[in-house]
Amino acid sequence: MLAIYPGSFDPITLGHLDVIERGTRLFERVVVAVLRNPNKKPLFTVAERIVQIQQATAHLNVEVDSFDGLTVAYAKKRQAKVLLRGLRVLSDFEMELQMAHTNKTLSEDIETVFLATSNEHSFLSSSLVKEIAKFGGPIDHLVPPTVALDIYRCYAKTNPVPDQTALTPMSEFPKMECPQETVGDRE
Ligand code: ADP
Repeated sequence: MLAIYPGSFDPITLGHLDVIERGTRLFERVVVAVLRNPNKKPLFTVAERIVQIQQATAHLNVEVDSFDGLTVAYAKKRQAKVLLRGLRVLSDFEMELQMAHTNKTLSEDIETVFLATSNEHSFLSSSLVKEIAKFGGPIDHLVPPTVALDIYRCYAKTNPVPDQTALTPMSEFPKMECPQETVGDRE
């Protein structure tokens, strides 16, 4: 059975990765689908997020794709019957349940399957990671290694890069435009 894991993934965190890893044990195929959301100004472009997710999931049998519009329309197009979502806190539950009910009214035969976050990731969100990085804190324990480097590079203008990432000179990376005003968005 094919499951779609839709989200912003701006950027992918170890919490997302945990959901993806557990999803691959439950479903034959998992597609991680990055939503192109015109209402949000993301830190990373969709193309950058796709590469980040591909690198973080290289050890797994997952496909990474992007979509815009309704998630159920994308699921139908992919002939998927399952939407995978993660739950952390009660506020997630309220929004996710509302979304699942809405999606049910749009497509009767698509089910939303929720995976409860692992304890160690229950506090973790993309926004939190960006917030910490913005103020110069370490984020290596919260995101995959290549994502940490991408984020440090984004904030390198305002904060020095922490020592543990200094092994790879910043000049080796292509230039990346990183809008700062996204920090604070709910993700
Ligand atoms: P969206 O904008 O669609 O909420 P996100 O990238 O923020 O996109 O999240 C995608 C999905 O991953 C959501 O279902 C969210 O609840 C879930 N998720 C995010 N962080 C975690 C985490 N730390 N543990 C478990 N699930 C998570």
